Amino acid sequence: EAYPSADPAYPIDLEEVMRGLAGREITSPVIIRLPGILEHRMRELRRVFDAAIAEGGYGGGYSCAYPIKVNQERHVCEVIRDVGARIGFGLEVGSKPELIAGLALTQGFNEMPLVCNGFKDAEYIETVVLAAKMGRNIIPVVERVTELRLIYESATAHEVLPTFGIRAKLASAGVGRWADSSGIRGKFGLTVGEILQAVDYLKSENLLGGLKMLHCHVGSQLFDIRAVKYMVSEMAHLYVELVRAGAPLEILDIGGGLGVDYDGSQSASESSINYTLEQYASDVVYRVQSVCDEAGLPHPNLMTESGRALVAHSSVLVCEVIGSRVFPADPDMGLVERSLAAEDPPQPLLDVYQAYRRSADTEDLAEVYADAEHALSEAIGLFNLGYMDLISRATCEELYWSIGASVLSHFGDDLPESLSHLPDRLADLYFVNLSVFQSLLDSWGIDQLFPIMPIHRLDEEPMRRGILADITCDSDGRVDRFPGDGEAKTTLELHSARGGGAFGQSGDTDPYYLGIFLTGAYQETLGDLHNLIGDTNAVHVTLGDDGRWRIDAIVEGESVRDVLSYVQFDPKEIRKTLRSDIESAMEEGRLTLREGASLRRFLDQGLEGYTYLE
Ligand code: PLP
Repeated sequence: EAYPSADPAYPIDLEEVMRGLAGREITSPVIIRLPGILEHRMRELRRVFDAAIAEGGYGGGYSCAYPIKVNQERHVCEVIRDVGARIGFGLEVGSKPELIAGLALTQGFNEMPLVCNGFKDAEYIETVVLAAKMGRNIIPVVERVTELRLIYESATAHEVLPTFGIRAKLASAGVGRWADSSGIRGKFGLTVGEILQAVDYLKSENLLGGLKMLHCHVGSQLFDIRAVKYMVSEMAHLYVELVRAGAPLEILDIGGGLGVDYDGSQSASESSINYTLEQYASDVVYRVQSVCDEAGLPHPNLMTESGRALVAHSSVLVCEVIGSRVFPADPDMGLVERSLAAEDPPQPLLDVYQAYRRSADTEDLAEVYADAEHALSEAIGLFNLGYMDLISRATCEELYWSIGASVLSHFGDDLPESLSHLPDRLADLYFVNLSVFQSLLDSWGIDQLFPIMPIHRLDEEPMRRGILADITCDSDGRVDRFPGDGEAKTTLELHSARGGGAFGQSGDTDPYYLGIFLTGAYQETLGDLHNLIGDTNAVHVTLGDDGRWRIDAIVEGESVRDVLSYVQFDPKEIRKTLRSDIESAMEEGRLTLREGASLRRFLDQGLEGYTYLE
């Protein structure tokens, strides 16, 4: 269940939503976006900063400019824009296409801050300057020294003094994956020396009056609060020095980095954070305040560009298990008898069989298992040399799996250290209708953990342990690390098909849905077209005043036709050539008329269809 209003009295049952979607022929995988959660996160950020500001008697205000790169989907951005307009938040863009999207989104919202980061050319700067002249609250941030000259030229040409910021290259580093986003070798921003030169240049060109913002971004997912503290202290001191040098700074923008506790461990580790929203806000406010008070300077307005922390929670990706592979706990005794009855059975086969027999009545299962493992590796060696037949090898494997299953059930949670690899080796494989490369890129690319669990059957203990394999033809297309107790788990607790057994084989036709949570940030736009598997369907689900959920928007996923066009295949041309191929096959009697018609229909439907299994 999801609680978009944070009130347990008004849940949204995700399984019920999936049933509702099925009724509308919207199939999984599907992203369920919950704008209520997004609004709640935004209001929480507003609340914690307001509280810290009020508590410390801080003289400036706070705003967050949401970086649209974190999730550029128009519906998501519009929710942020609409809620943002009510609570004083803005948007951030980092490229020319994002600038156009940002200008479109803030149309009719002249007051809304629109921060423009990223490398800029003359066209970019001129667009910003003209938008400012038009009345927009748009703030370009200088990332490279050369951009100052572009601002000068544009300001002179259009006789306007734009408001702008400078991004500082701090010595403070981010942490983990993003440690290199800042520091002297960081890609963006001006060094302290360059900032001083910039101030002189701006003075000489009469532009210093426009320098209102000091900006930095040291990296995403700052999981250790100490990194936040260092960064804010350095920024506050830089602010003080620049104001003393004559810069009329009013806004201190400390960028993104506010992290998300993906694994719930509340620790300083890559998929977690060791602080709360309250601690983040009060640290930022307190540090800036104390440095400014010491210098006797007014407190600047504070700004963050929190992206991940706003949107991650608001999307859940639901996918269906389309099959599972389970190692049989009992060997096929027919197979065993056949291979033992052969003339002169190979020694490793006899050894595994011995181990299997002993496993039924010994306490020393660890030793039995070690014998079986050794015998299996000898069996495979013999097979590879051509000295063992297929039936004997299959028997060895079946017996070995069965011994493994007995060992696991015997030891339960007290598995000896020497056998700690066994649960992974014997874990089930759950095939999910999903592409990790399209929908969970950070799981593949940077080993980020996402909470995953079934969205139903929650009153039944999940008795299986498995990993997830996606439908791409890439062995990397799997998820085999999950949030655990302090450390990542290598298997996930999952159910068997109803009535027991493996999915896809047991005759259970009820769907088994898994929810992959906290996927609202970065995953949607980072995803790629590996194997030409395209965007998933997405729906926006909100709670009505009557406490019932409803679907506000449906965004259909990509069709086969769409993804083929991205790689310059012309679907019309494909259809034409394949149709003529079918025609010739019918003429020459290789296909009947009926078969030809079926193939043509499959082809037409296939082109318009979803890129996932249906
Ligand atoms: N601001 C800038 C300049 C960024 O490059 C980024 C992302 O890397 C962000 C803000 C958003 O960061 P986060 O999602 O960690 O809040």
